[in-house]
Amino acid sequence: VTYLGRCLCGNVQFEAEGPPIDVHYCHCSMCRRATGSAFAVLAWFKKGDVLWTRGSPKTLPSSSVARRGFCADCGTPLLLHYDRDDRLALMAGCFERADLLIPTHHYGIEGRLPWVDIGRELTGCETDVDFAASPGSAPSASAFD
Ligand SMILES: [Zn+2]
Ligand SMILES: [Zn+2]
Repeated sequence: VTYLGRCLCGNVQFEAEGPPIDVHYCHCSMCRRATGSAFAVLAWFKKGDVLWTRGSPKTLPSSSVARRGFCADCGTPLLLHYDRDDRLALMAGCFERADLLIPTHHYGIEGRLPWVDIGRELTGCETDVDFAASPGSAPSASAFD
């Protein structure tokens, strides 16, 4: 199944060949900030299975180990990519058929806000990556390749 998605303004559009490897909630502080929301819903695909069909995201390093991508025109958060990973997480809300991307677990539960009561029946685990974020540095945006 090919999943289609786009940012709010439509200047960045993509296709992802499914099924996704994993779909989950992420409550980590970085996903909260990157989305401006209480948590992110991440849909993971093989990097090679994601095709940018119009435009491409701008990315910036969000930590020492990962980059985040977004539409440079409308700001919609689009992706998370760990440098040494052959997978790519796309923001589930950007998909035309987000209804088919069903989260199966929680990640980063140490950051879960007490009033977030979604997916209570699902298991969860804490963040296992050392983000080593450097909040003082000024990351520079670049095009995603
Ligand atoms: Zn856009
Ligand atoms: Zn996260």
